[in-house]
Amino acid sequence: MKKPLRCRLHLHTWKTEHNEEGQRYQRCLGCGTTRDKLTLNNFSGT
Ligand SMILES: [Zn+2]
Repeated sequence: MKKPLRCRLHLHTWKTEHNEEGQRYQRCLGCGTTRDKLTLNNFSGT
């Protein structure tokens, strides 16, 4: 699967979503990667 250049540079375009349980998570508009709002430590600032 080909990822956009921004994603390969870890510059995902995150969009906040809600699942059926009302929990927030984020999904990248470019590659579809998801992450939990509770585990945001990794990519902050980069
Ligand atoms: Zn991405």
